[in-house]
Parts: sequence; structure tokens; C-alpha cells
Amino acid sequence: MAVPKRKTSKTVKNKRRTHFKLRVPGMVACPNCGEMKLAHRVCKECGTYKGKEVISN
Ligand SMILES: [Zn+2]
Repeated sequence: MAVPKRKTSKTVKNKRRTHFKLRVPGMVACPNCGEMKLAHRVCKECGTYKGKEVISN
């Protein structure tokens, strides 16, 4: 089995982990109500998509 020649330094480890994002991608604020929603999907808070009401409560 291949074994790394050197221990991964703290700097290299931290630089690699800059790509580890805390938040889930694809979440955007709804332009109608400001709630966080999944991109390209109907807002579940106000039921709108592209400025039109799609779901009525
Ligand atoms: Zn909304």
C-alpha cells in the first residue's frame, strides 16, 4: 500500500479545508418574503416562484 512520504502540515490541511463550507449550497433568499429557500424551487413560505403565486393557502 502506498504511504505518504510526509505528514500533512497544518497549513496544507487548513488550506484544503477552506473548501469545506459550513452551509448547504443552493439556498437563496426568497425575493418575495425573504425566507431562505432552495434555488429553482417554489418558496414553501409564500408559495411563489418567479414572482407568481403558484401554491395558494
Ligand atoms: Zn417566499
